[in-house]
Amino acid sequence: MAGANGILESAAHFSGVAMTEPLFWADQKAREICEKKRYHFIDRPIPERASFVVKTSASLSGVLHIGRLSDTIRADSIVTALRDAGAKARMIWVGEDMDPLRRIPEGVPKEYEKYLGKPVTEVPDPSGCHASYAEHHQAEYLEVMEDFVVNRAKRYSTTQEYDRGSFRKYIRKLLADLEKVREILQSYRDSSLSSGWSPWKPICAQCGKVITPQVLEVDGARVKYDCRDYEFERTLAKGCGYVGEADALHDKGKILWKGEWASEWALWEVSCEGGGKEYEVPTSAWWVNGEIAERIFDYPMPTPFFYEHLLIDGRKMSASLGNVVYPADWLKTAPAELLRFLYNKKLMKTRSFSWKELPRLYADYDAHADVYYGKANVPNEKERSHMIRLYRISQLRAPPKERPAAVDLTLASMIAQVYDPEASMAEGIKALQRSELIKGQPSKRTVDEMRQRLIYARNWVRMFAPELALRAVGEPDVAFLAKLTEPERASLRELASFVKSGPGPDAIQSSVFSIADAHGVEASRFFQILYRLILGADHGPRLGPLVCALGPGRVAELLERALGPA
Ligand SMILES: [Zn+2]
Ligand SMILES: [Zn+2]
Repeated sequence: MAGANGILESAAHFSGVAMTEPLFWADQKAREICEKKRYHFIDRPIPERASFVVKTSASLSGVLHIGRLSDTIRADSIVTALRDAGAKARMIWVGEDMDPLRRIPEGVPKEYEKYLGKPVTEVPDPSGCHASYAEHHQAEYLEVMEDFVVNRAKRYSTTQEYDRGSFRKYIRKLLADLEKVREILQSYRDSSLSSGWSPWKPICAQCGKVITPQVLEVDGARVKYDCRDYEFERTLAKGCGYVGEADALHDKGKILWKGEWASEWALWEVSCEGGGKEYEVPTSAWWVNGEIAERIFDYPMPTPFFYEHLLIDGRKMSASLGNVVYPADWLKTAPAELLRFLYNKKLMKTRSFSWKELPRLYADYDAHADVYYGKANVPNEKERSHMIRLYRISQLRAPPKERPAAVDLTLASMIAQVYDPEASMAEGIKALQRSELIKGQPSKRTVDEMRQRLIYARNWVRMFAPELALRAVGEPDVAFLAKLTEPERASLRELASFVKSGPGPDAIQSSVFSIADAHGVEASRFFQILYRLILGADHGPRLGPLVCALGPGRVAELLERALGPA
């Protein structure tokens, strides 16, 4: 597949001739899936498959933050990698909406306590706009998902599948092989399962909760239960005390998670699914389900991919810490491609994200674009191919022929604060030309790309980097000025008059060093003074382009006004 400017996209690199180990994680995973020939737990060959299903899912309770997109974005990359390798593949998305409501999320009325333990499809929508709590969150998730993935996923709901009887076959097998199922589960735990243990739980015929029924006795498909209080980590689902009997093959109920996951794999013939790294440990639900799938359902365990969870400033996202990043916020400050880039970069390395580091993420992404478009040289061939592949797979659509326009985010934020990019780009473009970030007359596409980046940058400052707001422009810091030494003042005066003559960004940058040197001022100190006077901060983007972007005349005037009459 030839990409822009004749670049050979590394896409097809393991279909056909190239038998070398793929470099990119999703390509490696795709190869593993294609080459998997035997079951994991039992000695049996896997029948040839015509196509592969990659599953992604979401529990539908709680807030939708960008961390919850990580599974879907990575599954999307594997589907792309499989297709690029010449295999047939598709993604399915499963709303785990038979799961019980486990806690009352922020902003939901306290009276929702009474719904704790009910399937989320049976809980009303607190916002009142959908048929249920689950539907509300599902609509929200799917709308957001569309913005971040390439491959369209067929969608399923576990509740619907239970209603249709799709899981009946697996419930029957689990109950018919109850002793074997117990043995499998028992081999993964230290404490003993109770004598009445059942892999299927009824929904309480009286209160409709799925978590509170406690199975007392199993006899074939007949299950005796009573409805008792159930404690989640921090909340309590009240049982209603009902004692009754249910038929696992006909009454409403749910397979326990250790068993349900395996049933889902067998039902949808899943070949690959992701999970947080906590599932990689050998006692996790992944392997229990893998063994149930193979030994009870005769279905081979899918190929897993495990990943680190996204941290914000080194901490888990949580409403109580106030560090939740919503997809909508992301899209105000960066394109979806940048989040795809972040998630695709490395699978198992802890990915801590900080809003302060957004410019660095942009710069990294732009550096990959340079390599993709052949504008930067990377001597190491493997590294080069990896960068090209990563950049390409981060895209939502085929990249344009020309390398998209890019500018350092911090500098963009300065320009955007001086010249409103939404009102007119004329001044913003002039600023970029002065800074030599655009040469000549830009195309309409370049103007649009620059406008978009300026808008992202301005939103980023407003929402997440208020310390970069240009407060100080025009309001010199009197106390700071009073402490300047005579050589420092002389340096400032000389620089102001040089800047007025309209030099380019590189000339300004080097003049800072030469002027400081001539007056015996430390260059780092001189830079600090300039950033304080221009931005009200101790540091900022490269000074030459910054001065050009803000307008040399404007900066010279600012410095002269700060110094007062000579
Ligand atoms: Zn709603
Ligand atoms: Zn009940």
